[in-house]
Amino acid sequence: MRHTRGKPICFSFNTFLVLVVFVILMFFTTVYLSYRLLIKEQCNYSSYDITRYQIAQTRTSRLTSKHRLAVIVPFRNRFEELLQFAPYMHKFLTNQRVDHHIFLINQMDLFRFNRASLINVGFLYTRQEFDYIAMHDVDLLPLNNELRYDYPSQPFHIAAPELHPRYHYQKFIGGILLINREHYELVNGLSNRYWGWGLEDDEFYVRIKNAHLNITRPNNISTNVTNTFRHIHGKNRKRDTTKCYNQRESTRKRDRQTGLHDVRYKIISSNNLVIDDAPLTVVNVQLFCDRNSTPWCDCDVK
Ligand code: UDP
Ligand code: MN
Repeated sequence: MRHTRGKPICFSFNTFLVLVVFVILMFFTTVYLSYRLLIKEQCNYSSYDITRYQIAQTRTSRLTSKHRLAVIVPFRNRFEELLQFAPYMHKFLTNQRVDHHIFLINQMDLFRFNRASLINVGFLYTRQEFDYIAMHDVDLLPLNNELRYDYPSQPFHIAAPELHPRYHYQKFIGGILLINREHYELVNGLSNRYWGWGLEDDEFYVRIKNAHLNITRPNNISTNVTNTFRHIHGKNRKRDTTKCYNQRESTRKRDRQTGLHDVRYKIISSNNLVIDDAPLTVVNVQLFCDRNSTPWCDCDVK
């Protein structure tokens, strides 16, 4: 009996042992597989997270970049050009991830156009929030993305003479010029003596040189004088090249008096506009002219 009774016990015990071993094996297999799965998932997650993290980081660092560009456009009666310029430039600068805003400095008075004074006004209007400016013609569109609008440690002349479609002399710094806030203040901005077309940029060249700043320009550009910019200057846009009083002689000299510090103006109003998807601010400005010192601000006075 003991024998027969013991036999099933013995069998049950063996079965029990097998079961225990099986369960233990199953347990470890499960633990091992779960562990592998967990690690794999963790790996996937972590690489996924790193990628997302990096993108977020890049985006954040670009968006919170400490540099902000004010695109300052001296302006009067160039509406058709503006309709092309604003959406084009906004897209171009957004592609370059340049933190920017476009300011159209619109001359409302009846004096001759004064590009230089308008840029001084634009600078004063934006200097608190923006640490560099682009002095930008409304009719000059950069076509090559290699033309970078990043913060310039030295004045950066984008519309270089070897790239500009029209002006090729070495001292030319018109069209598009980037300059940081400190340097613009250092040279006292642009002269206010230039009413009518021309020479204000050449005088600014001398200011920059006198301040021992280096004018830098794009290099190793894959395009040339024919295809780096589009100059949307219509045939109906006549340049005001009239010279009256002693304008010719006076504007050939370096101006050591006037500039950012004494530009006289009144801001009449400002408007925030969106053209297509490009936001911009129009600043309506009235300039004042001291007829004793620059009578050529109005050549029609009898
Ligand atoms: N400009 C303007 N209205 C004028 C004259 C000039 O808005 O009546 C502005 C505009 O931004 C223009 C820039 O000043 O692009 C330079 O003038 P313009 O195109 O006549 O000079 P260019 O470089 O073609 O000789
Ligand atoms: Mn032009």
